[in-house]
Amino acid sequence: MRELLSLKQHILNSVGKHELSKDAAFILITRLAGIESMSEADRVMDTLAGQLQEIGAIRNYWMELTKEQRDESVRLSGMLQAEGPEITIVPDGPMGSNGYIATSEGEGIIIDPGSSFDTIWPIVQRCNASFKYIVITHGHFDHMGCMEQLKEATGALTVLHRLDLPALTQPVLNGSFLFSSTKKTTFQPIDVTVNGGEILEAGGYRYEVIHTPGHTIGSICLKVGRRLFSGDMLFADHDEHVGPITGNGFDLERSYRSLCRQMDGAFLVYPGHGSPIWVDEEAQRKYLAASSDHPA
Ligand SMILES: [Zn+2]
Repeated sequence: MRELLSLKQHILNSVGKHELSKDAAFILITRLAGIESMSEADRVMDTLAGQLQEIGAIRNYWMELTKEQRDESVRLSGMLQAEGPEITIVPDGPMGSNGYIATSEGEGIIIDPGSSFDTIWPIVQRCNASFKYIVITHGHFDHMGCMEQLKEATGALTVLHRLDLPALTQPVLNGSFLFSSTKKTTFQPIDVTVNGGEILEAGGYRYEVIHTPGHTIGSICLKVGRRLFSGDMLFADHDEHVGPITGNGFDLERSYRSLCRQMDGAFLVYPGHGSPIWVDEEAQRKYLAASSDHPA
């Protein structure tokens, strides 16, 4: 997140101008290390501002710096309440990946249940719905997580693109081999294999499967109305996210272009990591510009 870099720079400048003590700057910089989202930084600021008065000015700077984004989230929440299935975010997978539960008329779809079963199951139960599908946007372990237990518990069918099927059994392809702490490294076969273009119906809504290779060769997005579950293809930073092994920058660029054509106007994205993003024409231009920058 670009604003976090500006914040760290501002902290250092404030020490230079004797507006902040070195001790307070050290605590701030240490606590902000490794933090990547606005909400995490908010928590650090809130906690420290309560303990150290001199941090108040830094916190004000941070609020001003991120004002535009905060206004945007208010606008987004309006969009979120607009017509469409009710969407619950479960942001607790490894690597901070998001799971989603979309329900309407007592029926629903679960997308990328990357978290532990114990985390997502009480939330699924609270939705009080029957589930038809568990859609995996791509074959990375942090998006597949507890899909088998969830399938067992809900009776829903698991869904994955044909080209990401090898990731189910190969830790190198699903990324789990990179993390020695990850116990779950292989997954059971999928119930429904898709190619893109399929329509999954649940709760009176049509969820369209769009093949968007680039992050992985078998990455898909799931479109319902003007909302899009994008997996790891689109994040708020507009950067290109090419995954290891089967990822490909040229494919990703093509996928951005065809996706923007298909969405035909602004849309709301629920990404695999981070907060929902409103992708208007300007954001679409930024994604396309970022993707055309990649080295040949
Ligand atoms: Zn991924």
